[in-house]
Amino acid sequence: MRPLAFDPESIELPSGHFINGALRDTSEERIEVLRPSDAKKLGSIPDATEATVDEAVANSLDAWRSSGWGRAPPRTRGKVLRRWADLIDRDVGQLAQLEAVGSTRPVARAYAEDVPFTAEAIRFFGELADKLGGEVASTRSASLGFVASEPYGVVAAIAPWNFPLSMCSWKCGPALAAGNAVVFKPSELTPFSTLRLAQLAIEAGIPPGIFNVVNGRGNRAGSSLVRHPQIGKVSFTGSTRSGARVMADAALTGTKPVTLELGGKSPQLVFENVPDLRHVARCIVRGFTSNAGQSCVAGSRLIAHRNIVEPLLGAIRPMLADLRPDPTWHGSMSFEPIISRPQSARIQLLITQSRDAGAEIETGGDPFDEMDGCFFRPTLIRQVTSSMPVIREEIFGPVLTVQTFETEEEGLHLAGHPTYGLAAGVHTSDVGQALRAMRAIAAGTIWINRYSRSADMIIPTGGFQQSGIGKDLGAQAVHGCLRYKSVLVDFDSCLDSDESGVPAGGRGKGKS
Ligand code: NAD
Repeated sequence: MRPLAFDPESIELPSGHFINGALRDTSEERIEVLRPSDAKKLGSIPDATEATVDEAVANSLDAWRSSGWGRAPPRTRGKVLRRWADLIDRDVGQLAQLEAVGSTRPVARAYAEDVPFTAEAIRFFGELADKLGGEVASTRSASLGFVASEPYGVVAAIAPWNFPLSMCSWKCGPALAAGNAVVFKPSELTPFSTLRLAQLAIEAGIPPGIFNVVNGRGNRAGSSLVRHPQIGKVSFTGSTRSGARVMADAALTGTKPVTLELGGKSPQLVFENVPDLRHVARCIVRGFTSNAGQSCVAGSRLIAHRNIVEPLLGAIRPMLADLRPDPTWHGSMSFEPIISRPQSARIQLLITQSRDAGAEIETGGDPFDEMDGCFFRPTLIRQVTSSMPVIREEIFGPVLTVQTFETEEEGLHLAGHPTYGLAAGVHTSDVGQALRAMRAIAAGTIWINRYSRSADMIIPTGGFQQSGIGKDLGAQAVHGCLRYKSVLVDFDSCLDSDESGVPAGGRGKGKS
């Protein structure tokens, strides 16, 4: 048995909601949660009603007002967040198992990547808490104009299932560092690991109620949370379709600010002059098969110069053959399962529709028959056109379309997408060409000669077009959880004479 392997039946699951510092199970309708690796039942969670959401938000607001979290010196909040990060590192084994048993993340990856990255993101925001200054405006010398920041109060944070722990840290870390309370709703498909994170938050010293978790479906619990009148800001990660609904709900119930991190359909553009085709092949394969393609930034469209496409595919094919599916608890760095049967069926449908429209399925195109769970074979699709579903829609599976170009202009045109603009990879040895592509492609992240995030959490992430609004990570994520107040102070009360030269109609006093 590999060192990290475990028996999925042996895992004890935290259950219910997490309100006012404690787990609370309720008699609400239950949602059954399955294990993606073998499609067997893992457990169940309550589907929060409006009343439960209301209780969670009211409790958070009370805690925010009474605990002093928002008024505390930022350095004190930072210290508590850093302690939370240390506890996450301490419990890496337990958290990795909880993450692996109910999600698509193999325990070896959860142990080496997801849990440490979660701790690191919380630590990063803890370190940033007291490092962000404001702005002093340029005013006449007898006044001082400045911009003061303050937390919103209670932030609603909603996350998807693809990286449950990391997504929770990206959503909640900046909101808490900025001095807000958070009511967090994880995906109903992966609800358990963040309940344990909430227990660790209390152990770290985050006051009860400052980090509450409600479980439930998006269209009920999620929507109630977004519409709640006492929510000051909404931070959402999920599909473009749900994001539009969230934006509408937020606008209709109080014009709340929203940050939306949504779907993508990202290109990897490969020019003829790349010096190392194997390196590019590794970037391509990693870009579309990592987490079985269930990553918002999946590089799912290969756009390659026609003179190198065949050798590039020649390098890619054996790498795909090496990807072996395995249940997430077997302890290997294996190829991941698809989150659910409906998601696997959707991947298949988009492929079939495109094949019927003339696309050629070169490899894959269907699930691995031999597995109990939902594992989909890495798929290469050629002869595609921009009207086909595999090009138009985010697939969220291990599917790569292949298109070719001859001129730089043609390549840049294909790299653009009418709907999405989350990320793009550009592979070239010509720095001018790389920077021209950077300027031309409408995407929130451009990776040049690589295709992956780095550990540098100071680099924010976020989408253009229908891939989102606002940023996660970086200092921008904290700024997004603060509101700004403009202040103008006159040094004494009779300064009108100092305003000489300002046209009468432009004077501030007494005008609106
Ligand atoms: P989803 O939109 O179905 O659900 C995401 C979360 O939103 C879940 O917690 C869900 O319960 C909730 N939700 C759904 N409808 C809601 C509503 N009307 N009101 C409030 N909450 C609602 O997405 P998913 O299938 O869980 O996740 C996959 C999607 O997430 C993909 O499109 C992927 O690209 C995107 N994603 C984006 C990023 C990014 O940083 N841009 C990161 C990860 C995932």
